[in-house]
Amino acid sequence: MKRTLSLFLCLCLLTACAAGDSPASDASTPTEATESAANTEVAADAEFTAQVFAMDTYMDLKAYGPAAEAALAAAQERLTALDALFSATTEGSDVSRLNAAAGEPVTVDAETFSLIQQAVALGASTDGALDITLYPLSKAWGFPTQEYAIPDEATIQALLAHVDSSQIVLDEAASTVQLPEGMELDLGAVAKGYAGDVLAADLKAAGVTSALLNLGGSTIRVVGSKPDGSEWRIALQDPEDESAYAGGLALTDAVVDTSGGYERYFVGEDGVTYWHILDPETGAPARSGVISATIISENGLAGDGLSTACFVMGVEDTIAYWRAQQDFEFILITDAHELYVSEGIADSFEPLGNYADAPLTVVTYEEG
Ligand code: ADP
Ligand code: MG
Repeated sequence: MKRTLSLFLCLCLLTACAAGDSPASDASTPTEATESAANTEVAADAEFTAQVFAMDTYMDLKAYGPAAEAALAAAQERLTALDALFSATTEGSDVSRLNAAAGEPVTVDAETFSLIQQAVALGASTDGALDITLYPLSKAWGFPTQEYAIPDEATIQALLAHVDSSQIVLDEAASTVQLPEGMELDLGAVAKGYAGDVLAADLKAAGVTSALLNLGGSTIRVVGSKPDGSEWRIALQDPEDESAYAGGLALTDAVVDTSGGYERYFVGEDGVTYWHILDPETGAPARSGVISATIISENGLAGDGLSTACFVMGVEDTIAYWRAQQDFEFILITDAHELYVSEGIADSFEPLGNYADAPLTVVTYEEG
């Protein structure tokens, strides 16, 4: 079942700045502005919001200050346009055209090309834990349509023969992508992270210095700090209790991406829970012991892809990967109710609720 509610909720304390502190209120003092000018002045802490349904989820955007209203309207349009390119289920999207034309090169939008190129590179760096060509398997399990089924092993093996993102042929000069026959793409593991990067850049270019972009709970990007200058507070969903939080993070200018087995799943007739994150090795839901993987980074595309990859890789491989890369932070929750937190984010993270007293390992760059 796909949660339409936010999986992360923002605990941001949106207290307005004291009126005297804001430049806008200074400008509206009688000596500096006429009465009508004062009325049209937008305060630096004025909040604007927008909601969009895109990428199969509800997204909540908040931005502050004089540039926010117009920038959010543009952001809504941008999200809708990206969804129209990346959706595997919308007819005529770049991804649908690619999936329908496997075997032939297809000209795609520059953004689609760039996203596929980066996702393929990230997949290679994770040794295939992230693989955007798993779509035939996702369909066999019924995740896109929610008509769930447990495919037999022969079906899984036959479909796995077409899973390997390193076989995608990318021609940058021609902006074409060619999938081998039988291969199909699904950018669901990276699209929201990429969209967050695009929106944050657009908002900053428009002059917005404070914004909170909740792209469906599993990707949350914060731009700058809160309007009062303090850090944003982002809550992590408890993977075993949808009404609770497992922790809180204090952040500025960052993106938080979480992959959880609780986001979309079904319980089979065998009583087993099957979730939407698949292991490209087995073609079945990933069973690494990690039940929630959160990545904190500056690059949303990488964070989104890595949250999925780390869910597949499990604790040991995630730690090894992180030590080699050193350009993101992580919080892993295991089925043994343990927390693993990388050292760069440990001071900003507070375990909460059922995890307040859970065993917590701060993972350091140096082994030992
Ligand atoms: P969500 O989209 O729910 O926020 P993720 O970012 O982890 O969660 O993406 C999961 C989606 O990515 C799945 O719904 C499926 O479409 C696709 N997917 C599942 N497993 C993998 C994988 N190992 N590599 C790449 N994509 C995957
Ligand atoms: Mg992801």
